[in-house]
Amino acid sequence: MNIIIADNSGFCFGVSRAIKKIYDEIEKGKKIYLWGPIIHNPKVIDDLTSKGVKIIESIDSLNKNDILFIRTHGIPKDTFYTLKKRNINIIDMTCPFVKKVQHIANKFYKEGYKIIIIGDKTHPEVIGVNGWVDNTAIIINTEDEAKELPQIDNVCVVAQTTLKQESFDRIINILSDKIKNINVFNTICDSTKERQESAYKLSQLADIMIVIGGYNSSNTKKLYEICKSNCKETYMIETKDDLPKIDFRNYDNIGITAGASTPDWIINEVVETILSFNNKNRDNQRDTE
Ligand code: SF4
Repeated sequence: MNIIIADNSGFCFGVSRAIKKIYDEIEKGKKIYLWGPIIHNPKVIDDLTSKGVKIIESIDSLNKNDILFIRTHGIPKDTFYTLKKRNINIIDMTCPFVKKVQHIANKFYKEGYKIIIIGDKTHPEVIGVNGWVDNTAIIINTEDEAKELPQIDNVCVVAQTTLKQESFDRIINILSDKIKNINVFNTICDSTKERQESAYKLSQLADIMIVIGGYNSSNTKKLYEICKSNCKETYMIETKDDLPKIDFRNYDNIGITAGASTPDWIINEVVETILSFNNKNRDNQRDTE
């Protein structure tokens, strides 16, 4: 039984940076407010709240001089300036890759282009980017939605940073055929590209794939879809407790990958649990011999 962990699994650059920063601030004894979870991982959130971080549902509850930590997904332009006006202290940990999408969308919007965002319209990152174009973007997520778009010219297209490359390529093919003067920016972040490529390769040779990440994590769901397309036995789990109750000794190659919000200690726990299943079964076997 081989356990193979995909390259580029776990925390990405943006998440590592944000997590390091928030723990540094906690150590300084600061009271920090988070608007929504910093990353899509309940275990990390539990740890932060146990250390005094307060998660708020709305920025209305903040008072002057409170410290608000902006997560990697970023926030809309209006919100940013409202916070400034209200003298809320901002620790802005918007991932630089997300900032780049906001910047491109904002620049082309100001030049008169229609902005199309390829991504999930309910995802905070997409809501944030749309906010930098005064909520005027057309947001699409499927090839059918691309086909249904009316004829429009002078368009700038950006992508949610965690989009699947394949979805992006297919949608751009459709848009390119129907839009005159289209400016396409592939804003899928490098970290996502590398993670998806590694997961794709590993799932081609694995007999079973375990994808670890928050159930509400967009990039983890995409890893699951990629792995499932190559390996029928693909499971998405949040922690070791969600591992399927199966005999892992029946598999030669067990592949593991993890979303951008999954800390190493959760990956290690999963590996150790699979190994302990194996050892336990071996011990039971010995006892009956
Ligand atoms: S997935 Fe990419 S864009 Fe999102 S936080 Fe990580 S590095 Fe940044």
